[in-house]
Amino acid sequence: MTKLIIGNWKMNPETIEQARGILLPIEHKMHLVQENLEVCVCPPAVFLAPLNHTSHNVVLGAQNVSWLDGGPLTGEVSGSQLKQWKVKYVILGHSERRIYLGETEEMISKKIVQVLKTRLVPVVCLGGDKAAKKDEMKPLVTRQFHAAIKNLDRKQIEKIVFAYEPTWAISTVKNSEHASGEHARELILHIQELLSHEVGEARAKNMLILYGGTVNKNNVHEYTKYPEIDGALVGAASLDPGDFWEVVHEFYRESIHS
Ligand code: PEP
Repeated sequence: MTKLIIGNWKMNPETIEQARGILLPIEHKMHLVQENLEVCVCPPAVFLAPLNHTSHNVVLGAQNVSWLDGGPLTGEVSGSQLKQWKVKYVILGHSERRIYLGETEEMISKKIVQVLKTRLVPVVCLGGDKAAKKDEMKPLVTRQFHAAIKNLDRKQIEKIVFAYEPTWAISTVKNSEHASGEHARELILHIQELLSHEVGEARAKNMLILYGGTVNKNNVHEYTKYPEIDGALVGAASLDPGDFWEVVHEFYRESIHS
């Protein structure tokens, strides 16, 4: 099955020259891994237009979108606007937006509906919550999952990419903790089970479920050894082209051997 690696650049880097400097080395090496794997980078929205001319084999994603397709919402960007810059994926429900920007489950659900309407692919993060502890992840993920899909039919659910991304494992969180490959696999199987109830087991198995939380060149092997982990959502390491490339290449290597 195809693997998907998404780089979430967050509010980095500072300049478009630096952004090109991160993207180009990956872009130039993509011919080595294209068979079973897709690579996406999600830069800050202002860099999407200029990077659109630089990215040919790496696809572009956005870090946010409005739940409206136009109109009076100061500061927001619509899905149709993103599509003009060849954006394919949109990250939704990221813990930083849930925790620091007040994004509610209701808002996330509306955004998912709008993204699907615009024929973009939502990458829905589950596991982001300020207080949730390691042993409380299943109920949290279950609640966020049901809130995310509540207004969707089976066909729409099938178009979503999910990412298990526990807040406590994100590299920039104070005292962040390591999530083992075994833990990531367990929660990914849990999401797959939730999906099975909605779309059936066979279809659920064909959907992509990623892991995110301090994935980098030093620990990527821990995640690639589980075929149930369909790829990674990578934050800090995606800003270093050497580190990001090793993550990409390791998922590729595992995918051709599985
Ligand atoms: C993220 O915040 O999406 C993320 C996965 O960050 P990091 O890899 O830096 O933990």
